[in-house]
Amino acid sequence: MAHVKLHIPGPVEVSPATFQAMSHAMIGHRGQGFKDLYAKIQPQLQTLLGTKQLVYLSTSSAWGVMEGALRNLTTKKVLNCMKGAFSDKWFDVAKKCGKEAEALQVPWGSPILAEQIDARLATGQFDTLTLIHNETSTGTMSPLAEIAALKQKYPDVLFIVDAVSSMTAVPLSFDALGIDVLLAGTQKAFALPPGLAVFTCSPAALAKAATVKDRGYYFDFVEFEKNAKESMTPSTPAIPHIYGLSAKLDEFFAEGLEARYARHTQTNQMLKDWASRNGFTLFPEAGYESKTLVCVNNGAKAGGRVIDVAKFQKAVKDQGVLIDGGYGKIKGTTFRISNMGDETPATIQSLIGMLDIALTKA
Ligand SMILES: *Cc1c(COP(=O)(O)O)cnc(C)c1O
Repeated sequence: MAHVKLHIPGPVEVSPATFQAMSHAMIGHRGQGFKDLYAKIQPQLQTLLGTKQLVYLSTSSAWGVMEGALRNLTTKKVLNCMKGAFSDKWFDVAKKCGKEAEALQVPWGSPILAEQIDARLATGQFDTLTLIHNETSTGTMSPLAEIAALKQKYPDVLFIVDAVSSMTAVPLSFDALGIDVLLAGTQKAFALPPGLAVFTCSPAALAKAATVKDRGYYFDFVEFEKNAKESMTPSTPAIPHIYGLSAKLDEFFAEGLEARYARHTQTNQMLKDWASRNGFTLFPEAGYESKTLVCVNNGAKAGGRVIDVAKFQKAVKDQGVLIDGGYGKIKGTTFRISNMGDETPATIQSLIGMLDIALTKA
């Protein structure tokens, strides 16, 4: 079957070098070989996340840790900051876990702003909040530093932050932000296959989790901490993924994190420029656009160009590349193209050539 390169916003394209790194001979997860592997990547992960806390490896997709965070930390009420498909779903997940939850909903495409959160936290009802840094369904990034600064006013509220589609592409400094949980799945900007998540917790989050009796086992944060101290995971992890992660981290540091962030900014700008050059507007509110994907309006907002998204997507796929035709309720009225992972100005330039050809057919 012909290879179709992924430019959807996750999973993204995985390099042959990464697959090769993953196909290492199997080792036992309680042996020295595994401990050495985890101990080797631990400081790399800590640098990447900007933390002195231990970084944990969860054999699950991001949702495992997103649900786990609620089960470990919410005993009073969670404030779910909602601005798109993933952040909206976190509210449903909270209710499915039997938690008291309140929806702080803004229109899709708008960011969540610190003042909106401040007004709700001021009620004193909440012990936790969930926030998605980069809402992948709408390509909208919320101002994380300004929101995290609210921790000074509400030190007892635990801030749970999903950086699934921003981690490794933009700087994230967990300790400086002062937040309580930071998590990501590896199939987005890490450019690994789906199936592994990385996360870290503040001392306050670990202390709270230790008091929560029904926090479960598989995502028990206290177990993750206890095991990570010995360079192990609570249960048998996806060892091939962790070999892949190790190779990926070596690539990140060989390139340099600053250069990596600059590359994502540059490739993202190329896609934004392509959209505006062709008469399209972007879905997110100006000033809050993602740096890891573009979510392009298909005439949904005034003045924008209108195409047949399905035909456009097919004409791109006929050239060997998959883009996304819009997520959830904005399917067809938007389309999304990812620049996450290993993409370079050269690969994005070649993608743009294909997009231009496809536009003539849509
Ligand atoms: C993809 C994504 C998720 C869900 O990840 P899974 O790997 O499907 O669990 C959550 N949050 C954001 C922001 C995402 O982009």
